[in-house]
Amino acid sequence: MTQEKSDCLFCRIVSGEIPASIIYRNDHVIAFRDITPVTPQHVLIIPLKHIASLNDLAPEDEAIAGHILLAAGVVAEMIGIRQSGYRLVFNTGKEALQSVFHIHGHLIGGQQMGWPPFPGLSTQH
Ligand code: AMP
Repeated sequence: MTQEKSDCLFCRIVSGEIPASIIYRNDHVIAFRDITPVTPQHVLIIPLKHIASLNDLAPEDEAIAGHILLAAGVVAEMIGIRQSGYRLVFNTGKEALQSVFHIHGHLIGGQQMGWPPFPGLSTQH
């Protein structure tokens, strides 16, 4: 099911109106390369349905949430980081610096990472 919002950047990628480097697609999600990668591998996994953020997930979206998580492992295998390790990050809201309000999991990997993940303060992407 696709419910598009015409002014949403990621809905426009879903519809094909805006090009993106899409590497995976099924009936529920698409995955495409982030235009400004922060790690050697950086892919965004988004639902076809417009849902602004994790805060807007409704009980009936339970399956969609699961499909995003299931896609993470599939895409990680496709881009060669399933065994080496990766993170799936959902920036949510102002202090997390969410800038696009259509749920997206940042699948990042391809390098050794540190923990905790917030060693410095950044206000820009
Ligand atoms: P966030 O700040 O968590 O909302 O993440 C939004 C992400 O979308 C950023 O990492 C951007 O680099 C990425 N982004 C913005 N526009 C595009 C685009 N046209 N194609 C691919 N990634 C994009």
